[in-house]
Amino acid sequence: MSIKENLLQIKSSIPEHVQLVAVSKTKPVADLMEAYEAGQRIFGENKIQEMAEKFENMPKDIEWHMIGHVQRNKVKYMAKFVKLIHGVDSLKLVKEINKQAKKHDRIIDCLLQIKIAEEDSKFGMSVTDASSLLNSEAFSALENIQITGLMGMATFTENMQHVEREFKFLETTYNNLKTIRSSNCNMQILSMGMSGDYELAISCGSNMIRVGSSIFGARNY
Ligand SMILES: *Cc1c(COP(=O)(O)O)cnc(C)c1O
Repeated sequence: MSIKENLLQIKSSIPEHVQLVAVSKTKPVADLMEAYEAGQRIFGENKIQEMAEKFENMPKDIEWHMIGHVQRNKVKYMAKFVKLIHGVDSLKLVKEINKQAKKHDRIIDCLLQIKIAEEDSKFGMSVTDASSLLNSEAFSALENIQITGLMGMATFTENMQHVEREFKFLETTYNNLKTIRSSNCNMQILSMGMSGDYELAISCGSNMIRVGSSIFGARNY
């Protein structure tokens, strides 16, 4: 099936309130343009430099989401255009994003990444750390960042019951942390689910899925 067919098939199979992030990392601009022409406007990348190059070369009505782990010294390369940063996992990073956003007179939306998987390789914060960040004075003083939700990645396993437990844990965490409302915290987004598990994620409350290979095919690194 073509990129367009894959995209339209997925879009028609998910509920309307669920946003689809087309994860285009490693893929050439021509592939992204095929998705764009089929109506896709939200693209997710995991490397800041690659995203910045694609931003320069593509239509300006695209929303660019950074879904990968963010190094603080690279925030400046995406601060002028990034629409949503999914993988925020420390107060230090929050402060740097705020600083760079201020330079561009913007407020940058971010999701806190919660560690739900068992593997050491998956980044993210504990629930306790996320909660204390959101309740801290240092955070409440920041005017150029807005926390709009949570993101998580499940363990890479065939065991769907295990994945479901992790998704449900994140859903509960989201419902709890959502009650924290402040000038820069207003949670409405629960970003969970990828090609192999997005249907399950949606059934567990996800309203933003990040799908790569089911749209663009396998990645060749
Ligand atoms: C690559 C990636 C995805 C998409 O993975 P697929 O299995 O290709 O759908 C989703 N989320 C994150 C954080 C990723 O790095």
